[in-house]
Amino acid sequence: MKKFDIVIVGAGPAGLSFANSVSQSGLKIAIVELQDLKDIQNPVPDGREIALTHLSLKIMKQLNIWQNIPQEHISYIKKAHVVDGKSDYTLKFNTDKSEINELGYMVPNFSIRKACYEAVKDKTNIEIISKLKVNSIIANNKESIVCFENGEQIKAKLVIGADSRFSATRRMMGISADMHDFGRSALVCRMSHDKPHNQTASECFHYERTLAVLPLNDNISSIVITLKSPDAAHVLSMTDEEFNADVAERFGQQLGKMQLIGKRFNYPLVATYSNKFYGKRFALIGDAAVGMHPVTAHGFNLGLRSADTLSQLIQTAIEKNKNFTSDILLRQYNRQHRNVSRPLYLGTNGIVGLFTDDRPIAKIIRKGVLRVGNRFPPIKKFITHQLTEENNSSIIKSFLPN
Ligand SMILES: Cc1cc2nc3c(=O)[nH]c(=O)nc-3n(C[C@H](O)[C@H](O)[C@H](O)COP(=O)(O)OP(=O)(O)OC[C@H]3O[C@@H](n4cnc5c(N)ncnc54)[C@H](O)[C@@H]3O)c2cc1C
Repeated sequence: MKKFDIVIVGAGPAGLSFANSVSQSGLKIAIVELQDLKDIQNPVPDGREIALTHLSLKIMKQLNIWQNIPQEHISYIKKAHVVDGKSDYTLKFNTDKSEINELGYMVPNFSIRKACYEAVKDKTNIEIISKLKVNSIIANNKESIVCFENGEQIKAKLVIGADSRFSATRRMMGISADMHDFGRSALVCRMSHDKPHNQTASECFHYERTLAVLPLNDNISSIVITLKSPDAAHVLSMTDEEFNADVAERFGQQLGKMQLIGKRFNYPLVATYSNKFYGKRFALIGDAAVGMHPVTAHGFNLGLRSADTLSQLIQTAIEKNKNFTSDILLRQYNRQHRNVSRPLYLGTNGIVGLFTDDRPIAKIIRKGVLRVGNRFPPIKKFITHQLTEENNSSIIKSFLPN
């Protein structure tokens, strides 16, 4: 039976980034993935355009991932506007009067996946085992055995679940998760338009649906429409002409005439939060630990952070000749990542709740929130800091007990 130090289940961006980072310690690593190797090597566009924070950029540069992303796939967010309903009142964020040039960066998800793969493909201590499904994981005091559907088995000192928000490994290890089904879907696509977006990301909370318009290169934007799931079928069935006119109208013709590019993609919205990020010789990272609603664009940023946090702890343990699979280490990872992710998870779900609630009281609170946000500089500073901080020590931590 083949033996590895670490077996990672899931070759998504979180699993690949973690493998990349932890491989620096010389450990022998296997990444197990359901998909075919050619799909990992050349992922297809999935409509997701990922907004990345400054911390993510820093980690991706350290892992040589950023260097693999073609320049023409990267675009910049310089301003962000939040609008409530048809109100002309806007909560604004920008980089004026600050030392930074951008609030964040936009990169297509398929490009991130490909760049993550490119960064690990030549590492001799990483093996990718593709087209295999894990059936069970047996963990004891000595080792873990990962058993596949085809009867094969491999051994590991530590197993990592990076197998998406509906993680099968999480369930295999008996770890429960809170799941919140919003009963809504996110429709995503690219659109070109007549007028420039001026590198501004806009989030418009209309009563039945939200519309995010995120700046890509040239006069092209990523469009994210969240709406009740039964309405999604209707919007998907619109002709391109009807869809173009509908989006332009809902965005108040701010970008002039708009034109769909390619396909519309549909993602049912379910947020998940694992009740523990670790088990015996086991840890969860990426969406398998925390599956966010996309409205605040924290999903992959948090996933990358989880991979970085766990990898740093493991590398430090190895440097100090300590056991990198110990309960103490895994509990520390659990504590650190919960401190960072819990407020963002609850805050995001709270925002979604408030801004999709069409009761009159919610409308009043929403207007108040935007006005307070604009007039109370610490709130804006706090949110801007969340996007632009470069250190792996969120200021949120300073508000929380250890
Ligand atoms: C519409 C939308 C917009 C988004 N926008 C943003 C954004 O702006 N910013 C941001 O930070 N995040 C965003 N996200 C979130 C981001 O896409 C995810 O957080 C990220 O892709 C999760 O990466 P992951 O590696 O954890 O999981 P995944 O990408 O889900 O990868 C999991 C991998 O595990 C494999 N797998 C699953 N089960 C098994 C198994 N049993 N055995 C082996 N392999 C398995 C899968 O095939 C897959 O390759 C968005 C998400 C959506 C839906």
